[in-house]
Amino acid sequence: MKKVMSISSVVLILLGFIIGLVVSQSSQTLTAAEQKAKVSPVKARERDVYFPNSEDLAPDEMRVVACGTGMPTTRAAQAAACFLVELGNGDKFLFDIGSGSAERISSLQIPYDYLDKVFIGHLHGDHFGAIGELFIGGALMGRQKPLRVWGPNGPTPELGTAYAIEKMKEMYTWDLAGRVGMVDFRGYSIEVEEFDYKGENAVIYENNGVTIRSFPAIHSIDGPVSFSLEWKDLKFVFGSDTYPNKWFVEYAKDADIVVHECFVAVPDLVRKMGFTPEQALVVGTQIHTAPEAFGKIMTEIKPRMAVAYHFFKDFDTTSEINDRIRRTYEGPLSLAEDFMVWNITKDGIKVRMAAVEEATWAPPLVNKPELPQKGDREKYSNEMSVPVDAMVYSEFIKEGRWGEVDKALRGVYKEASEALGREFPYPADPKESDE
Ligand SMILES: [Zn+2]
Ligand SMILES: [Zn+2]
Repeated sequence: MKKVMSISSVVLILLGFIIGLVVSQSSQTLTAAEQKAKVSPVKARERDVYFPNSEDLAPDEMRVVACGTGMPTTRAAQAAACFLVELGNGDKFLFDIGSGSAERISSLQIPYDYLDKVFIGHLHGDHFGAIGELFIGGALMGRQKPLRVWGPNGPTPELGTAYAIEKMKEMYTWDLAGRVGMVDFRGYSIEVEEFDYKGENAVIYENNGVTIRSFPAIHSIDGPVSFSLEWKDLKFVFGSDTYPNKWFVEYAKDADIVVHECFVAVPDLVRKMGFTPEQALVVGTQIHTAPEAFGKIMTEIKPRMAVAYHFFKDFDTTSEINDRIRRTYEGPLSLAEDFMVWNITKDGIKVRMAAVEEATWAPPLVNKPELPQKGDREKYSNEMSVPVDAMVYSEFIKEGRWGEVDKALRGVYKEASEALGREFPYPADPKESDE
């Protein structure tokens, strides 16, 4: 994910330069020995970057990681909406899971058993498009329990979260039918908790000292919501998508960190996205929250950190967004991009970028894997109305297996048997090798 140096990078470099100057001046007060102890050609120094899986969370600390900050139009540089909240009590919550965010999540190398709670603010693809990847891929990579999803109902059942998830599961019927009986199947189910989108600061989750509330959002048609999460005197608020609204102003007030959409500035919708001025004005100010409106909301809410997302953060768009927010807001501000990280305690908020691995493998399992259970296929057969005998190869397909590779493959079994000192019999039918 290489990209052109952004404005924020330039600001960071300048800041680094200034800090460097200050530090080099203050170092004049250090003795030569002290200075030498701080800088070494062979010893590592502390770096101002978050390396996933390298820092403990303090018991009273919250860490928020942006796993998607972009738009419905997909791009390699930014996934769509997704924010991970990690708490010092061990709980982790995903807020929205937009297209492309599953890869970002995987780069954090978090065991998938810990990533079983997703809160969806509304059902636009850029806010839940990667739910299928977390469902299937998360189970493959080690989630050993059902994925739990919270989301709003809608004005009709067809416009609610339960309907969307049920249909998604149906979409994966072939995928699931092919895996059941072959792998640990505990992770391949979803539990949906649908709640009233009209709930005003209504509690939708309460466990382990964490309270999550929802309140209505104004976006597209009825149904969208925003969320707040409270734990140990810390409050995180996530807007998903919304036009500025009275509920947000009331229920996000004085939060520690407030994530709210901030759409591409109107001139850039015309210049970069080819909108007509009429379209740009409507989409950029009436459907979404314009930067100027974002600033106005934050001035009212006064969070310890305001986080703007939902725009393409490029070298030639960022200053426009920043300038327009600054017309109406002077407080602490993060212009979010993927892998921005906030560490929040009562004492302070540290904002950094994460340096992540892209070529990740599955993180460790939390519990021992379970072999496929005898009744898995029968259970799934009943649930999804797929006959059990359709979950194995037919005689027709079986007979198409090219026997010429047998000798080569038997060698692999022999090798494994010798290496591990126990016999691995060569299966007559691989789909039945577990039975
Ligand atoms: Zn939306
Ligand atoms: Zn959106």
